[in-house]
Amino acid sequence: MTVIKDVIAKVKQLDHDQKEFHQAVTEVMEALEPTTKRHPEFVKAKIYERIVEPERVVLFRVPWLDDRGEIQVNRGFRVQFNNAIGPFKGGLRFHPSVNLSIIKFLGFEQIFKNSLTTLPMGGGKGGSDFDPKGRSDMEIMKFCQAFMRELFRHIGGETDVPAGDIGVGGREIGYLYGYYKKIKNEHTGVLTGKGLEYGGSLIRPEATGYGAVYFAAEMLATKGLDFKNKIVAVSGSGNVAQYAIEKVTQMGGRVITVCDSNATVVDEEGINVEKCCFIMDLKNNHRGRIKEYADKYQTVCFEGKNVWEVIKEQDIKVDIALPCATQNEIDSESAAALVKNGCICVAEGANMPSTPEAIKVFQDNNLLYGPGKAANAGGVATSGLEMSQNSLRLSWTREEVDHRLLLIMKGIHKACLDAADAYGKKGDYVIGANIAGFIKVAKAMLAYGVV
Ligand code: NDP
Repeated sequence: MTVIKDVIAKVKQLDHDQKEFHQAVTEVMEALEPTTKRHPEFVKAKIYERIVEPERVVLFRVPWLDDRGEIQVNRGFRVQFNNAIGPFKGGLRFHPSVNLSIIKFLGFEQIFKNSLTTLPMGGGKGGSDFDPKGRSDMEIMKFCQAFMRELFRHIGGETDVPAGDIGVGGREIGYLYGYYKKIKNEHTGVLTGKGLEYGGSLIRPEATGYGAVYFAAEMLATKGLDFKNKIVAVSGSGNVAQYAIEKVTQMGGRVITVCDSNATVVDEEGINVEKCCFIMDLKNNHRGRIKEYADKYQTVCFEGKNVWEVIKEQDIKVDIALPCATQNEIDSESAAALVKNGCICVAEGANMPSTPEAIKVFQDNNLLYGPGKAANAGGVATSGLEMSQNSLRLSWTREEVDHRLLLIMKGIHKACLDAADAYGKKGDYVIGANIAGFIKVAKAMLAYGVV
């Protein structure tokens, strides 16, 4: 058995119920296989065995009082996966599906994504099984404060810097940061995604969505193509999806889908600037359901189905797919339908939105396929820029941050292609992203000796 097979087998045996974590480890490790031959020093130092083990896992109780005065109890997680190249860094997810497997998969992916940005950030992730849907503002605040009451002792500007993810946006970061500041009596860059008034960076809210579109544009350019007049399918309607739609529209593409966990809307005319503003207001201020878009604009709405199922069942033509909702939203059948309906490019705004079988379909059919750790790295890259600005006690302009984001995405794209090329897998962004992200972390781990 090769080292890689051994590592995958051991992870499956030790953490047998963590299927999302197995999926992420298997994808990364299989992509790293060629590095074992070129870097026997990594094999000798057991870098592969070490990198799949988190530095530490913190699991904690989050008791809080709801509006009726009843005690609620949730679970909190922070997985500090790897800090070889910088402080642990990665978002917090509040969603009822959150468990250790999901947080570990996200934290593991984050190691390679953060390395790809070229900024000094390690990998981590956290969150809770708390469901923010239907909760009042007061309840959200009380939950965030209860969560931070324990998390504060594990994080710090030089130690671990969380940010947002599903269910954690500007409002939640405000409550979390306010409480951290209160109990630590410190105004430091301990969280990113902060409001502009208290240390946030311009373009951070836009960064993941914009970055995914910049990455897709780079992939398209390798074939002499661009977004102009392309039909684009976007899933989700949260932070990443909203700004992906905005950027695609600016680049001349036509976004025809959007969804939430209840329904998918198809708008063949395209989601223009006004409609995109409606979605932002609906989701960020009114916390409403996407069905209200269909009611307002008289478009079709498919309840209980995600974007990719609808595209498959309704045979909808799509040129470019930007999955921006959640993990494993595209299965092999939906992937095959995308191929059949003319899709040429998939760039993942979400983390691991395509199943391994779906990825195989994309690659077997020579689609431009950009995995999440590369395509959605713009969010954490801009978090890194927020950390830099906090350390410098300076704020850069919108144009400056956007320009840096664009350069970082171009750099990631080139790093992926160069690494794939160097290992004889020209154009394979999966191999490229994993190897390019891994090498720097592995070399740093090697330099530290056995720690
Ligand atoms: P949000 O909470 O802002 O939005 C998530 C969106 O996805 C919502 O519209 C949500 O619907 C929808 N969704 C969630 N689960 C499902 C499901 N099972 N089926 C269909 N739709 C679903 O999160 P983000 O936009 O921040 O995150 C989206 C993805 O991007 C995640 O995978 C995240 O890890 C990834 N990501 C985010 C980054 C960031 O900077 N925010 C950075 C890098 C990656 P509903 O409204 O019903 O909940």
